[in-house]
Amino acid sequence: MIIVMKPTATKDNLNNVVKKLETLGLRAHLSEGEEVTIVGVIGDKKTIANLEMNMMEGVEKTIRITEKYKMVSRNFHPQNTIINVGDIEIGGDELVVMAGPCSVESLDQLREAARAVKSAGAKFLRGGAFKPRTSPYDFQGLGEEGLKLLRQAADENDLKVITEVVDKDDIALIENYSDVIQVGARNMQNFQMLKALGKSKKPVLLKRGLSATISEWLNAAEYIMTGGNEQVIFCERGIRTFETFTRNTLDLSAVAAIKELSHLPIIVDPSHGTGRWQMVKPMARAAVAAGCDGLIIEVHPNPEIALSDGDQSLKPKNFARLMEELKAIAEIMGRKI
Ligand code: PEP
Ligand code: MN
Repeated sequence: MIIVMKPTATKDNLNNVVKKLETLGLRAHLSEGEEVTIVGVIGDKKTIANLEMNMMEGVEKTIRITEKYKMVSRNFHPQNTIINVGDIEIGGDELVVMAGPCSVESLDQLREAARAVKSAGAKFLRGGAFKPRTSPYDFQGLGEEGLKLLRQAADENDLKVITEVVDKDDIALIENYSDVIQVGARNMQNFQMLKALGKSKKPVLLKRGLSATISEWLNAAEYIMTGGNEQVIFCERGIRTFETFTRNTLDLSAVAAIKELSHLPIIVDPSHGTGRWQMVKPMARAAVAAGCDGLIIEVHPNPEIALSDGDQSLKPKNFARLMEELKAIAEIMGRKI
């Protein structure tokens, strides 16, 4: 349920509403807009079903919410949420681009990638140290050593770090090195991990599961938010379809869907979304035109010898060209890059 307060409601009116909810064992989630305050009610389903709030002073109306997810819902929080990472805002006017190799391979590789993506305008260095590979015989990542290299190359170039967690027991370790924690497609419904991330102080980038519906994805974010971590960023990275030409089918309609249903930011990954470097540029342009808040793109100094995902990695020169093209599209969208 959401409770919409009257524009004339006083602080006392609001406090009384919150108090009543708390005495019933419910939680109030406040969203204070310029004109009206909205109180999201969280807690036991039955108690909420029997709740009668319309008669309370200062209450304009109550709206019953049928969706299971609440804290991620735009009904609960009509304004866009902006997530701050140091001086960077995700979900604000400026589009945030995260770029770098699929896997951390060596300091030289990362330094070259970091210099290139920074000079082209990226704000984050990406790179996996723990890799969720389909085959156990494939490169699994450098582990903590990889995290150290990632942090070093990012710091040398004044970039933030994003990297993936694949095991909930590694969250504390990754928090020491990364500014944003990535949950990969294969772990979108790893509920124990989502709950543990609810206790983290770091923002979480939640990739869409390989075959996840929009509703399943929103519910996964709800797990993190109800745990206490409200800093969630969605990432559309393509879904499984019958098509085999591309690795996945990039669902850009998800950008519009998430914007309609949620207040949280959404970025797009055209690299995993297509699996082909030739398609990364056009899909990145389309993603910005669709209204995303940023992009995560695989860039490798030497894709031919990459230990993972070379086929979908851009060379630095191509990435720099793409960033130039995106500037013009961002401007039409009323955004900056
Ligand atoms: C990645 O970002 O390298 C990755 C493994 O992504 P996804 O979880 O989307 O497959
Ligand atoms: Mn990859």
